[in-house]
Amino acid sequence: MVTIKTKEDIAILREGGRRHAEILRVLSAMVKPGLPVIELENKAREMIDSRGDVASFLNFKPRGARRAYPAALCVSINDEVVHGIPNEGEKILKEGDIVSLDLGLTHKGLVTDSAVTVAVGKVAPELEKLIAATKEALMAGIKAAKGGKRVSDISRAIEMVGRRYGFGVIELLGGHGVGYSVHEEPCIPNYDDGDKGPVLKPGMVLAIEPQFNIGTKDVYLDDDDYTYRTADGLPSAHFEHTVVITKSGAEILTA
Ligand code: MG
Ligand code: MG
Repeated sequence: MVTIKTKEDIAILREGGRRHAEILRVLSAMVKPGLPVIELENKAREMIDSRGDVASFLNFKPRGARRAYPAALCVSINDEVVHGIPNEGEKILKEGDIVSLDLGLTHKGLVTDSAVTVAVGKVAPELEKLIAATKEALMAGIKAAKGGKRVSDISRAIEMVGRRYGFGVIELLGGHGVGYSVHEEPCIPNYDDGDKGPVLKPGMVLAIEPQFNIGTKDVYLDDDDYTYRTADGLPSAHFEHTVVITKSGAEILTA
């Protein structure tokens, strides 16, 4: 069932989203060659804790997973698509990498979900293009999201941008409802899978999150049980905002 959030819920999500965006801005500014990834995780926890909020992903156990997620932040470098674990193994950012930072924040019991992909130092023009296209797809998806439209309108808008640039549009992963918990209905594929999906109604809160690959659309799950990687080992980018559907459009809560 797709839940409809109340006005009070949305006010809380708006404040949570504001805090969320601030954390992602600070983390993005930290990204540079030589940075140990654990420092991003530590900074995220410090900022969340100091404001009395909760890291939504930390200890979250998705259905079917063998273990709970061990970190507050997902840090996915290059061929890592999503759910890269920042506090296992020693990972250090290097010049030319691209890195996705994905955070879940619970403020007064309500969850926002947002991600950005950042270039580490100077990156290849093709990677700059991948980052720009994925961001453009997120904005196209958000623009397509309004009361009376369907989930598939978001999916198609995202897919069209990926196809136009010739990037791999991942089919195995996608966006989702959010707010009362980390993952809610509906699923929001990043491509047209032939299913129209539910009608969008004011008060629905959605995490829209295109992920595009330089090469193949195919991904696989790493042995760590969380990190998705591209099948061809080529880089992937990811952007995400939490939005609330209104009659006239979608308001970005994590801007
Ligand atoms: Mg996310
Ligand atoms: Mg998400």
